[in-house]
Amino acid sequence: MGEHKILEFINPASGEKFGEAPVASQEEIQQAVSELRQAAPVWANRPLGERIRVLRRFQEILIAARDEISAVINQDCGKSRQDALIEVFILSDYLQAYLRHAPRWLRSQRVSSGFYFTKRATIEYRPHGVVLVLAPWNYPLILALAPALGALLAGNTVLLKPSEVTPATGVMIEKLLRSLPELAPYVRVLHGDGTVGAALVQAKPDFIFLTGSTATGRIVSRAAAKHLIPLACELGGKDAMLVLEDADLPAAAHWGIWAANYNAGQSCVAVERAYVVKPVFDEFVRLAVAEANKLQQGFSTAKKSPYHIGPLTDPRQMEIVEHHLQDALAKGARLLTGGERQGNYISPAVLVNVDHSMLVMQEETFGPLLPIMAVADEDEAVNWANASAAGLGVSIWSHDRARARRLAARLKTGTAVINDAITHFGVPMLPFGGVKESGSGRTHGEEGLRVFTHAYALLDGNPPYAWDVATLARQPGRYDLISALLRLGMGTTPQQRLEPVLEALEKTQNLKHKDWSTVRRSLAPFLPAFGAASLALSVLAGAALLADRQRKH
Ligand code: NAD
Repeated sequence: MGEHKILEFINPASGEKFGEAPVASQEEIQQAVSELRQAAPVWANRPLGERIRVLRRFQEILIAARDEISAVINQDCGKSRQDALIEVFILSDYLQAYLRHAPRWLRSQRVSSGFYFTKRATIEYRPHGVVLVLAPWNYPLILALAPALGALLAGNTVLLKPSEVTPATGVMIEKLLRSLPELAPYVRVLHGDGTVGAALVQAKPDFIFLTGSTATGRIVSRAAAKHLIPLACELGGKDAMLVLEDADLPAAAHWGIWAANYNAGQSCVAVERAYVVKPVFDEFVRLAVAEANKLQQGFSTAKKSPYHIGPLTDPRQMEIVEHHLQDALAKGARLLTGGERQGNYISPAVLVNVDHSMLVMQEETFGPLLPIMAVADEDEAVNWANASAAGLGVSIWSHDRARARRLAARLKTGTAVINDAITHFGVPMLPFGGVKESGSGRTHGEEGLRVFTHAYALLDGNPPYAWDVATLARQPGRYDLISALLRLGMGTTPQQRLEPVLEALEKTQNLKHKDWSTVRRSLAPFLPAFGAASLALSVLAGAALLADRQRKH
């Protein structure tokens, strides 16, 4: 553990050091956890309206600091100031939506109490307590603050560990949070690498929200399982792009190349592989190469930068990108453009003659590289797109949007975009997350806020009444009563519902000696009418319940 360690701030474009921060010590971690544990009930008991007011004030601070934020992210990641400002933009949009909708999303709900007619059943969305947020470096502002602010809004206190790769942004986030005294006691930022993250997991927070690689997802899940700490993981992707013969090819090539290279390809939902149907393959490839060649690479501290792409943020990432590229070339892929390395830059690459024996088609590359594979038809495209351990997102290009939607339904991903890519992350009301090895958590939308709560069930009423059906059923010797209620209340055919009535009639004097089948035969003509009547009664009862629920709300 790094008692005396420091994290250096290195600009990946120039390699220059521009600052440093101390790594959190074991004592600081323990102290932060214990302070936040004590503070948790205080923050949770603040009325939601008050928490919203505090976080709205934070939104104001965030927007006011936009130029400082974009300058720090620019140095820390190497991305342009404009791309850095987009993080502020998307985060503010998310926060605005959350502050508006939280009262509805977190409101207690009255639900039916079933057979317990005299009781009241309520669901409340309660905070977990202390939430640990582990953040990555590729979007170091939004991927740290969106979960942290969501968790705070839901009433949790938050331990936030930003990525060690972008520590300057972590320090700036800490400064912004500390500048709001009403919020500062409920959130703590701890700097350091995976060992600090691991120590925080060992400190047993009540919930963990990790955004990171699938490898880290496995490690953190195992560590959390040891203490049965619930967690949500937003992990790596290998998003496919499907191009059908009726696609707008210039748009598909332009935006496909953009989505493969945005943020130097370091997006969990970057387009990482393209499947193009044969009739339009050559034309798509020609357009894609032309688009890739148009992208300008470089670093500028100016607000108006001419560059589309900066360097790779984490130099270690370069090894992965180069390894994927070399592996593909060794297995017969053809590099049509790009792939040249200069320092931490690698020029936007387009590969063809690729297949699924190559790493570049299987594992997350996280760099400015697009392998394009020809497929016979949409079925083959779907098969290859699904032949991946990852399941974050997919993009489909077709003029026929209904056809594209049908195709999307066959793809095993958490998200899908038709005739665009990446952009769905910027829609605050849409839940974002993956399936398969891309994780199980959700961020954004109602689900993304509810993840920071547990659904608490409350059943309240007076002590059981002697005459209550539920109370009667608790006493021994009520087998027949329960059997009758079971069929009357839950029978799925008119016969099943009628049986207990007939059994009751059978017990009366005049039916005592009659043959059961005779009774059934004699009642048979009335069964449809009985069915219709019970249906009508169910509809009426349903409507009454609905009206009752609405009245209670
Ligand atoms: P990473 O897994 O290396 O690190 C993520 C965070 O976990 C960092 O803060 C790191 O210090 C911490 N960590 C590492 N080891 C740990 C351990 N043993 N215990 C506790 N914490 C530990 O990820 P990264 O390289 O920073 O980010 C890039 C990855 O994140 C890519 O795979 C990308 O696809 C993924 N990502 C996913 C999403 C999503 O929403 N699904 C979004 C962005 C990035």
